[in-house]
Amino acid sequence: MESFDVEAVNRRDRQEPLYAARKKIHPKRAEGRFRSLKWVIMVVTLGIYYLTPWIRWDRGEFAPDQAVLIDLYHRRFYFFFIEIWPQEFYYVAGLLIMAGIGLFLVTSSVGRAWCGYTCPQTVWVDLFLVVERAIEGDRNKRIRLDKAPMSAEKAVKRVSKHTIWLLIAASTGGAWIFYFADAPKLAVDLFTGNAAGVAYATVAVLTFTTYTLGGLMREQVCTYMCPWPRIQGAMLDEHSLTVTYNDWRGEPRSRHQKKLEAAGKSTGDCIDCNACVAVCPMGIDIRDGQQLECITCALCIDACDGVMSKLGLEKGLISYATLNDYNANMAKAVNANGEIEPDRIRNSAGKLIDTLTHTNWRSIIRVRTMIYICAWAAIGFAMLGVLLTRERLDLNVLHDRNPLFVTLSDGSIRNGYTVKILNMMPEPRLIQLTIEGLPGARLIIPDIKDNPEDAVLLPAEPDQLETVKVFLSMDPKTLTEQKTPFRFVVQDINGSERDSYDAVFEAGESK
Ligand code: SF4
Ligand code: SF4
Repeated sequence: MESFDVEAVNRRDRQEPLYAARKKIHPKRAEGRFRSLKWVIMVVTLGIYYLTPWIRWDRGEFAPDQAVLIDLYHRRFYFFFIEIWPQEFYYVAGLLIMAGIGLFLVTSSVGRAWCGYTCPQTVWVDLFLVVERAIEGDRNKRIRLDKAPMSAEKAVKRVSKHTIWLLIAASTGGAWIFYFADAPKLAVDLFTGNAAGVAYATVAVLTFTTYTLGGLMREQVCTYMCPWPRIQGAMLDEHSLTVTYNDWRGEPRSRHQKKLEAAGKSTGDCIDCNACVAVCPMGIDIRDGQQLECITCALCIDACDGVMSKLGLEKGLISYATLNDYNANMAKAVNANGEIEPDRIRNSAGKLIDTLTHTNWRSIIRVRTMIYICAWAAIGFAMLGVLLTRERLDLNVLHDRNPLFVTLSDGSIRNGYTVKILNMMPEPRLIQLTIEGLPGARLIIPDIKDNPEDAVLLPAEPDQLETVKVFLSMDPKTLTEQKTPFRFVVQDINGSERDSYDAVFEAGESK
């Protein structure tokens, strides 16, 4: 049966546009514990992003000394003491899985904390707002400036703001490419015009996107472009802490509380001052309930706590609360008609009674979050174990296919192999190649003269794959089968690392 979107039909009948024009938001500077936490996170995350490529890490003369480097040309990823090769990409996959589980854990515990505190979009918008406030003033001044006709002062402010935004955007793009090459050298090349074209193109693209997304589009990115707000609903449950307006104590709200109280009417704690709306970077009113736009930045909590302090009321009218706690409080505050009755949860002195007014942080510890923590830790420990025990010497062998074997003039049978020795250490090594399980075999390497018959020493360059052509010859009298299994073994003669490869000696119809 065909279904209709009734609201869409009504909208069409009312001739309302499907997309509302953006109303510019002028967030006021907030003060409080969550704002302080956000400042700290902003400084730490930006510091990590901009400074990491400049940290040096000595790996010896055969490897780059940049602590974190994605070396696309040599296909290596360096992270301090860890070097990841392309075939070890499962480490990156493991880290991505851990990041995903971590996101589930955080969201199911404290809602969209990732969005509100650490998402790059949030961090850079915060940084751009710092610049905007420094040049154009706080909320009211910016609103007045927007409405004012263009003047020399307004033009200077606008040009200054956008110039600094562009500089921040360019340094953001610049910092990104430093992760892919030696940062000090690339910086010199960039400013002297000697860097590769792709470097300038990457900086240009990232400058444009940072400036546009962080400076111009801001909250629209979160609301319209990011899929996370749509996904997060599936991760929340009745025990998740989310930023909540506690209307069970705030309603009925009024700007004229004194007058209403004098008239014998009860009011809630909300004085309808709009301080929570003024600081919201998403331009929403948390008193309208949970909304897709809310990034859980908690700045409205700071704003309202400030108002409550000034009024001498308990903080937490807006707070981190679980749906369960909210419902329990609400059940106590409403009367038989479902209306909020402030007197039901207050004593004669107006103090809140019999309600949970503080954030129940213990709700974070529950079965679901424990499962996430265990899964996260299990993957982390497994990866750490593999990382600490991984071999840095790898052996691979290909048997010649055509011909499988040849009979030499002296009657002996010869097989050819291509031996590949991978030295994954950033230093030269001396590797001994030996044969096990094939007594009487003569090992011949054409490139090496006078090698012993059953073992050979091969130099392996740092971080390199060495390919060696190897021949084995056998007296057919010593062979009992057409295919004789044996093993190639490589060992670092100065260390304990070794690797082996199971191979076969082919004697064909001669056996
Ligand atoms: S409603 Fe509050 S928590 Fe949500 S985005 Fe606005 S200020 Fe942040
Ligand atoms: S800041 Fe607090 S008191 Fe003011 S409008 Fe918001 S919820 Fe009400």
